[in-house]
Amino acid sequence: MIQKILIANRGEIALRIVRACRELGIKTLAVYSEADVQSLHVQLADEAICIGGPKSEDSYMRADRIISAAEIADVDAIHPGYGFLSENAKFAEQCESCNIKFIGPKSHSIKIMGDKSVARETVRKANVPTVPGSDGPIESEAAAVKIARKIGYPIIIKAVAGGGGRGMRIAHNDVSFAKEYHIARAEAEKTFGNGSVYIEKFVQNPRHIEFQILADSHGKVLHLGERDCSVQRRHQKLIEESPSPFLTSDLRKRMGKAAVRAAEAAEYENAGTIEFIVDAKGEFYFIEMNTRIQVEHPVTEEVTGIDLIKEQIRIAAGEKLNMDQKDIEFRGHAIECRINAEDPARNFIPSPGTIGLYYAPGGHGVRVDSHVYSGYTIPSYYDSMIGKLIAYGDNRKTALERMYRALSEYLIRGIKTTIPLHKAILSDPIFIAGKATTAYLEEFLSRTPPDLF
Ligand code: ADP
Ligand code: ADP
Ligand code: MG
Repeated sequence: MIQKILIANRGEIALRIVRACRELGIKTLAVYSEADVQSLHVQLADEAICIGGPKSEDSYMRADRIISAAEIADVDAIHPGYGFLSENAKFAEQCESCNIKFIGPKSHSIKIMGDKSVARETVRKANVPTVPGSDGPIESEAAAVKIARKIGYPIIIKAVAGGGGRGMRIAHNDVSFAKEYHIARAEAEKTFGNGSVYIEKFVQNPRHIEFQILADSHGKVLHLGERDCSVQRRHQKLIEESPSPFLTSDLRKRMGKAAVRAAEAAEYENAGTIEFIVDAKGEFYFIEMNTRIQVEHPVTEEVTGIDLIKEQIRIAAGEKLNMDQKDIEFRGHAIECRINAEDPARNFIPSPGTIGLYYAPGGHGVRVDSHVYSGYTIPSYYDSMIGKLIAYGDNRKTALERMYRALSEYLIRGIKTTIPLHKAILSDPIFIAGKATTAYLEEFLSRTPPDLF
């Protein structure tokens, strides 16, 4: 039985978890940094404990303090959210050894999928297509050049420990390769404390299409359909939707099955995501698995009617999934826009500060997941995402129209946000036609005068 959960995160996802717990009758403990006293998740949780200074290294990344808070407050489980310690195998292990349930997969699954090169090998053995690339990490520059030539340029150099869109460099020939290889290694070492890199063919103009997985501790693995996250800036997602306007029902079936095989290969348990890139011909390739709840999980919730956070908690409590693959039905269309405190007209420079007036849109088919409110001060220490706007409709056209309407109602005064950019994208014929690939946003920005957003 889980009666009380510690939420080892902040922002909108912490609030999302508080809400799910409330509905399940589970008590919540918020842990927070000195910069987050004002945050809504701290106000709305049943209990709250301050765990340190504003920098995440002094608070949200401090496993020791979080586990101490869990012991003091006598919680049964810890929900890690996304980012921070959510994909840290050691933290999952520490929780288990203190007899606190980690709401996520077992640490050995996190380890397999947390090393992107090991992940590739693991799923390849389970007959899941991977992008042509190096078998394992690169040993030396000379070995790397040989592999790059064999694969054929352009290639992408990726950190085995990468995440959050960082640690990736593209090379077009031997000369740029040597340069990018050294930059990639140094960046990986600095950002992830692990300089190990691997190489993949750089697939031109692909779609990013990922599958949501739910797996229980009794061996049942299901997929909850796809999310198309092709609208990206610097490999970071900005807009996500489900279903993908690109997939045929045959391709969806084949990718869904491959996603389930990939999760099974890691003996996966709980919610997770298998990410693929898909080329223009419909060839699909595994790129990585995220072993946690994802930012964009609400679009799946809207089209399936399944509450993913509640499922995560039930799975962690040892319950069996009470559905089979055939029971999962997809209805309508959902789209999510990430609302970031950034100025899109000035190269997306972060725009922290105090929000004056705040008014969130509502009405039929509109959902806002956000922890901010009028008078809230956005700290400068964390990710710039301050909320997610989700619109649902019977079909893609209705969902897009509703999203535009909701964006037009959304008032966030005092800071710059990505709202005007989202409105411009939602008015763009290429996006409306469902033709956006991962190359889309850069092309859109290059032809759109910044004063339009
Ligand atoms: P999603 O795949 O759910 O869309 P993102 O890739 O946007 O998630 O990452 C979610 C959050 O986690 C972001 O704040 C991102 O910066 C952070 N993040 C994800 N992976 C890592 C990592 N390996 N190291 C540091 N931060 C990460
Ligand atoms: P992260 O762990 O940072 O999320 P991913 O491996 O998921 O990194 O890649 C992030 C994004 O980078 C993808 O969504 C895609 O847009 C791009 N990308 C990654 N690998 C490739 C590739 N081999 N070819 C083309 N684009 C890629
Ligand atoms: Mg990814």
